[in-house]
Amino acid sequence: MSDYFSPYDADQPLMLKCSCGKDHTLADHHAAVAADSAAIELRRRSQTSEFEAYSNEFIEATLVKALFPQDEVRRRFLRAVGKGTAMAAIASVLPVGTMQALAQDAGKKPGTLEKTNLKIGFIPITCATPLIMAHPLGFYKQQGLNVEVTKTAGWALIRDKMINKEYDATHFLSPMPLAISMGLGSNATPMNVATIQNINGQAITMALKHKDNRDPKNWKGFKFAIPFEFSMHNFLLRYYLAEAGLNPDTDVQLRVVPPAEMVANLRAGNIDGFLGPDPFNQRAVYEEVGFIHVLTKDLWNGHPCCAFGTSTEFIQKNPNTFAALYRSVLTAAAMARDPKNRELIAKVIAPAQYLNQPEAVINQVLTGKFADGLGNIKNVPDRADFDPMPWQSMAVWMLTQMKRWGYVKGEVNYKQIAEKVFLITDAKKYMKELGQPVPEGAYPKFKIMGKEFDAAKADAYAKGFAINKMG
Ligand SMILES: [Zn+2]
Ligand SMILES: [Zn+2]
Repeated sequence: MSDYFSPYDADQPLMLKCSCGKDHTLADHHAAVAADSAAIELRRRSQTSEFEAYSNEFIEATLVKALFPQDEVRRRFLRAVGKGTAMAAIASVLPVGTMQALAQDAGKKPGTLEKTNLKIGFIPITCATPLIMAHPLGFYKQQGLNVEVTKTAGWALIRDKMINKEYDATHFLSPMPLAISMGLGSNATPMNVATIQNINGQAITMALKHKDNRDPKNWKGFKFAIPFEFSMHNFLLRYYLAEAGLNPDTDVQLRVVPPAEMVANLRAGNIDGFLGPDPFNQRAVYEEVGFIHVLTKDLWNGHPCCAFGTSTEFIQKNPNTFAALYRSVLTAAAMARDPKNRELIAKVIAPAQYLNQPEAVINQVLTGKFADGLGNIKNVPDRADFDPMPWQSMAVWMLTQMKRWGYVKGEVNYKQIAEKVFLITDAKKYMKELGQPVPEGAYPKFKIMGKEFDAAKADAYAKGFAINKMG
């Protein structure tokens, strides 16, 4: 018997030819139809003058926020140079600065793009929502780009395909461009974070058998899955366990497992829990094998997770294409940020070619109205959110955790690395070259599990943890 129809495979839907001519189930057929009409509605919304104005403002506000994370600095600067000079300074420096003009020109002058056929990698998780939805919504096309978004099996593969230039740009875990640029786990290749894709949107999900064992102090000997070593998941789980007095290197086991395999491992009892991306936390609840112990939002509200990025070489060789890409993804982020679009977005990204998940699961993640697996219905609208700002203090925090857990040895030049990889810095550099006033302070402070992190004191912070692996 061929395994084409897989009638005895419990994990595969029974494949029979659909009346529309495609090889998919009736449920998949309905999902595809729902996705198409949701995409049409979202596209209609994106073409309204209201959205265009909102999107331009969103991009501009993102820019201004990037340059002036501290509001008093922003106000001082505006008072000193005036609004006109400030706007001109901003427009002339960032890749985003060229985007407004480029967006208007894209249709008329396609010749400005150095490269139009692009391959972008993604891991099928809700973090990648802006990058994915830009495809069915036609945002890449609007910028004159022919983009193939390619589902990829795991993060190591994403890294390798970026290093060997099989992908032009990609969905990254935001610590990955830091690690790849520093040559941790691969040859050193300069990579950049252009935008953060999402903030929040992760959780610690535990096997149902632990529902009466919620105190991490009692988790000695547990096995956890994380998606990759250079991930916020690894750093946040380690942080959380260490705050409870457990040494993540000696008291528990951490295993790297591709996100799509986390639920199956939980069901099989290979792991006690995972700190993973959605939709897999919600999928574990949906499958009745796990419960959501804590949202990462409750560890660090507003923490970055995934990023959209590419190699420094690509940006240098294809500045206009990069700007067009940037614009597409930011437009999608602007749509994804708005809660009223979330239900439709869930329909658009649920089908097989994107996330391949039940729409009900994605809907719970993106709307924040969800079952936690313990019998409660929660309402957390910012469970997942899409704030593109690549704050350099976020990069510095990631580096402190790489130092804390022994991924980097010796002295770390936190700011230098952060500024090289997280693209806010380019703006400052170009501003300096143009003789324009450079705003200070791309380093807002954050609170992680109640403790303030100040990038200005990164080294003391990294060395200040009782539980560490600095040797
Ligand atoms: Zn069909
Ligand atoms: Zn993520």
